[in-house]
Amino acid sequence: MALSTQDFIDLDNQYGAHNYHPLPVVIAAAKGARVWDPEGREYYDFLSAYSAVNQGHLHPHIIRALQDQAQRCTLTSRAFHNDRMGLFLKRLCEYTGYEMALPMNTGAEAVETAMKMARRWGAEKKGIPNGRQEIIVAEENFHGRTIAIISYSTDPDARINYGPYCPGFVVVKYNSAAAIEDAITADTCAVFIEPIQGEAGVNVPDEGYLQAVRDICTRHRILFMADEIQTGFCRTGKKFAVDHEGIRPDVMTLGKALGGGVFPVSAVVADKEFMGVFTPGSHGSTFGGNPLASAVAMAALDVLEDENLAEKADELGRRFREKISQAKCGKMVQVRGRGLLNAVVFEAGFQAWDVCMRLKEAGILAKQTHGHIIRFAPPLVITRDELDDALARIIGVLEEF
Ligand SMILES: *Cc1c(COP(=O)(O)O)cnc(C)c1O
Repeated sequence: MALSTQDFIDLDNQYGAHNYHPLPVVIAAAKGARVWDPEGREYYDFLSAYSAVNQGHLHPHIIRALQDQAQRCTLTSRAFHNDRMGLFLKRLCEYTGYEMALPMNTGAEAVETAMKMARRWGAEKKGIPNGRQEIIVAEENFHGRTIAIISYSTDPDARINYGPYCPGFVVVKYNSAAAIEDAITADTCAVFIEPIQGEAGVNVPDEGYLQAVRDICTRHRILFMADEIQTGFCRTGKKFAVDHEGIRPDVMTLGKALGGGVFPVSAVVADKEFMGVFTPGSHGSTFGGNPLASAVAMAALDVLEDENLAEKADELGRRFREKISQAKCGKMVQVRGRGLLNAVVFEAGFQAWDVCMRLKEAGILAKQTHGHIIRFAPPLVITRDELDDALARIIGVLEEF
């Protein structure tokens, strides 16, 4: 007998650690911007696996690349070369405009890689005594879940009772270039920020912030490292969120949509003068750069370009914000975002979970963040007609509150 939605939820609750609080919906099939539960109910996906599914579910070009490569060679480790990784890295360097790339798997591993690069560069190129390197990060950051990364999280849920915490990070206010300037010492090797803070509720910094951070880093000769794991790959209406200010970080961490909605593929990109600090044995990953991931990631980049997903995200995102901001919802205080990375902010203390439950009943899957904010981030392949259909449903639900 076929298992039901409730059966699958019960299995998760009984056998899975309770480290998430998901909406009570089970996804059993997916295509493009839509997903289906075991009973066949259809929903629009307005989370896109936290922007890992920018190209849409089961994109035929990406699935074909996956299947073709799966018949040839899937895993070699880096003890040997393979005939896919170099092609992938060349493609990624051309796409991003950097000289070199280092492939990993999850976003957190790309972040760890960037932090290692910054610390080593600080010691070897700036002469900071090893053990004293400092990286400046921002309040309300989200960079992943490793012990080092949560050591500088300001979210109590992410940190509590995971001590001892990793030293070497200085947390400053986001969206304040002055706060960064004030925090710089002789031991500072890098500034590491999200160009838009996604998990914090789509915090878009003021125009000029990224440029000011760029200038400060150049003036003090420290690395500007941008975490584009959630904001990258066309999500915000440009290839990367830093492109909105036309600035070029020294280092970018990439992940999520680089895997084309299939599996984790991450990377760090930088020029030779920074990437050069890595020497044989100094860093690595068993699965990083594997041929299957390389083939999938190349196809994922093809789709972004072939389907003009940056322009599409820009245009549909403007439409989304314009329509939603006209909804007659007394609890809604702001609609913000760039491209198709948007959030509706409700009054402080408002339980956005209740809205998410009503949205689910209306065929829209979205998840609240920080209790009173809902992020709306559909796959970038969503059509204009699908978006309009979804908008009517979302506005209908908002107007109940
Ligand atoms: C999701 C995310 C990460 C971590 O990626 P994982 O693949 O979950 O390890 C890091 N930085 C940002 C900005 C993210 O959104």
